Amino acid sequence: MLTPSDKAYVPFVSVDNMMGLISHIGIEKALVELAAEVEADFKRWPLFDKTPRVASHSDVGVIELMPTSDGDMYGFKYVNGHPKNTKEGLQTVTAFGLLADVQSGYPVLLSEMTMLTAMRTAATSALVGKYLAPKGATTMAMIGNGAQSEFQCMAFKAVCGIDTVRLYDIDPAATAKAVRNLTGKGLTVVACKTAQEAIAGAQIITTCTADKASATILTDNMVGAGVHINAIGGDCPGKTELHGDILKRSDIFVEYPEQTRVEGEIQQLDADHPVTELWEVMTGAATGRTSESQITLFDSVGFAIEDFSALRYVLKNIEGTAFFEQLDMLADPDDPRDLFGMLERSKG
Ligand code: NAD
Repeated sequence: MLTPSDKAYVPFVSVDNMMGLISHIGIEKALVELAAEVEADFKRWPLFDKTPRVASHSDVGVIELMPTSDGDMYGFKYVNGHPKNTKEGLQTVTAFGLLADVQSGYPVLLSEMTMLTAMRTAATSALVGKYLAPKGATTMAMIGNGAQSEFQCMAFKAVCGIDTVRLYDIDPAATAKAVRNLTGKGLTVVACKTAQEAIAGAQIITTCTADKASATILTDNMVGAGVHINAIGGDCPGKTELHGDILKRSDIFVEYPEQTRVEGEIQQLDADHPVTELWEVMTGAATGRTSESQITLFDSVGFAIEDFSALRYVLKNIEGTAFFEQLDMLADPDDPRDLFGMLERSKG
């Protein structure tokens, strides 16, 4: 049996193995456990090195690096966002990431993170929903039925106990795909023809669309008192989903303000508009939902600590399994200073 702690090799989790691992654990159990990992890390937030992600923008998309460290481990994710990709048969978002040991600087895990990003984003959304959604919420509107959408639905079922999802996408084929994927998963699934229809009777509204430009997925008159909005898709400068008036009626909760003010829905607001940091809600230092009529908004952009939690969860869970390969990515000369000699000897 392979062991991930063999120093000369770096365990690598491929897409195939990630899918195997998630199926082996069970998607709902994995989402619940991931949410718990993210929550535990948010509760020790001040410990982490934090920086807004480093973004490289082009006309068609963005490529980003997302680093963090808790002093013991260092992690980063490479991720892209290219809304035009699906028309070319490619994913909008792909990712991979790495964990390293801070003491030696040696990598201890390399992993695909396209699947894992969908899992961690959904787990984080549902975790935030657990704190902010109205008590007893049963129904979620899911607007944008692309790659992330079913993960979001399953996480809100597993973590928050919702039993009904109301789906809408401008592309009916995307909605039909999501209906197919979610059928038989213990949810009542309703396909809707408009966003307005989707949010009717929903206590939680998730927006998860992809566009290079600012869109208005929700207008002010569509959002009634008391709902929780989980806004996932607005995550880049010039890329938002909500009308600014909704933001002014909402109490806004964010991951890391320095990053969200640049990338999130709140880029539409003044730089000093009050927001609450989620880690403070989780530690009890700040309040979450305080009334039934309050509109709570998670202005999600995705933060490095969530990826760090997810990578550590994977590292823990591959131990003793066959869901990884050993990568020969560390030169390991017998004499650490004899790297050149190792090259010479390799000629055979
Ligand atoms: P995707 O391209 O697979 O799906 C997006 C869907 O949105 C498509 O089906 C598209 O038809 C639909 N859509 C576009 N405009 C719409 C509109 N006006 N109304 C209804 N539907 C509309 O993308 P994905 O991988 O599911 O990602 C969705 C978004 O989430 C992207 O913008 C991505 O950058 C973002 N994202 C955020 C996080 C985070 O942590 N916040 C993590 C991952 C992805």
